[in-house]
Amino acid sequence: MNARRRFLRVLAMSGLTLGLDACVSSRYLRGTSPGRVVVIGGGYGGVTAARYLKLMDPWLSVTLVEPRDTYLSCPGSNEVIAGIAELSMLERPYAAVCGRLGIDKVNAAAIRLDRMRRRVILADGTEIPYDRMILSPGINFRWNAIPGYDEAASHTIPHAWKAGPQTDLLARQLRTMPDGGLVVVTAPANPYRCPPGPYERASLIAWYLKCHKPRSKILVLDAKTRFSKQPAFERAWRDLYPGMIDWVSSEKQGRLERVDIRNRSVETEFDSFKADVLNVIPPQKAGALAEQSGLTDESGWCPVDPLSFVSSLDPAIHIIGDACQAAPMPKSAFSANSQAKVCAAAVVSILAGERPPEPLLINHCYSFVAAEEAISISGVYAYSAAEKQLTSRSGGETPPASDRRREAVYAKAWQRNFRAGVFGG
Ligand SMILES: Cc1cc2nc3c(=O)[nH]c(=O)nc-3n(C[C@H](O)[C@H](O)[C@H](O)COP(=O)(O)OP(=O)(O)OC[C@H]3O[C@@H](n4cnc5c(N)ncnc54)[C@H](O)[C@@H]3O)c2cc1C
Repeated sequence: MNARRRFLRVLAMSGLTLGLDACVSSRYLRGTSPGRVVVIGGGYGGVTAARYLKLMDPWLSVTLVEPRDTYLSCPGSNEVIAGIAELSMLERPYAAVCGRLGIDKVNAAAIRLDRMRRRVILADGTEIPYDRMILSPGINFRWNAIPGYDEAASHTIPHAWKAGPQTDLLARQLRTMPDGGLVVVTAPANPYRCPPGPYERASLIAWYLKCHKPRSKILVLDAKTRFSKQPAFERAWRDLYPGMIDWVSSEKQGRLERVDIRNRSVETEFDSFKADVLNVIPPQKAGALAEQSGLTDESGWCPVDPLSFVSSLDPAIHIIGDACQAAPMPKSAFSANSQAKVCAAAVVSILAGERPPEPLLINHCYSFVAAEEAISISGVYAYSAAEKQLTSRSGGETPPASDRRREAVYAKAWQRNFRAGVFGG
């Protein structure tokens, strides 16, 4: 098979030809280096972007800046809390995907961006030049947005909203709480990472308690008046855990006023609740590097034009994943993955002097409500050139009376295939 046919086959397999084949393949055949792209952040967004850049144009110089050797996936971490999975099952090393595709992995955090000189600065002073950058740093927490809850407090009262030691800590606290105890989970206002995540967590904690400490209760204090997949979650709670989960909306004093870490209690406008296990999921904003580099606006998130996910504040930087404002798309690994593919295709087009094609993006998100039962939601998002925004094209969610066992089979397959699709293996 000649080089051109081999290359076009790679594009076809990626499912993302998007009209790029002519410009890219001709450059591929000329053997010229089309440019240097630096991707910061090796999560679902960053790794997918680096991978697709290389699949679409093997001649591109692609550098991935990420301090860890191994990624820890948040999807699946609620199962770890419930004792259904081990944290180690969520680990994915970078070596295979980077080695196979020729992505240059730099094991360091970017501490600063020199946007004028288009350079990424590492802690040891190393400077990495770029023609275009893709930034996918995930989230940061708004510490002190809830009085009494800061970063130090999260070491005893875990948020567990980034997978890792906090996930284990929350799991251990559940194992040692008494039967008949109270678990309080607090959910933030929109937007935040994984809109259905707090309710999946409440469901799986309920599953654990039903199996091991059935006299216990769960209170979900919410800063919102409604939540993602609400009818399907509430139906599952009634079917599987009658009387165990109490959800309190912000209209009915769900909004937190204070956290008292010494007493392990929370205060709302008219009441206070003492918990045996307290899980505070704080309000969020874009990852620290984005904010420090002046790439966020007053919302705390990064404004972008979703045609290419180029920053509205810097024409050489694209921002994808949880850090960007891509409403109505939710902040999910699935969204980050869709955005990364669109962004990679756009970067390849831009470097070739072409206008990126108008994208159509998808999100599909499963939530477990028990070890072997799940529900899901999906959405399709089109680009509106007039508004430079995404608009909802279609969508749907699991009807409350659907077959949750079958959804769980799909959910497990999705987790497996999705992780393999991004990280290989
Ligand atoms: C409990 C829970 C369950 C979830 N379940 C699902 C699910 O079922 N399905 C789903 O689609 N989504 C789910 N999500 C959401 C999903 O985890 C995120 O939306 C997704 O990880 C976002 O990808 P990202 O690339 O934007 O950020 P991340 O995956 O957080 O990756 C960011 C990366 O950037 C790196 N980084 C940060 N700053 C720097 C820097 N300065 N220099 C270098 N590297 C840096 C970090 O080390 C990290 O590796 C869940 C989330 C949670 C909390």
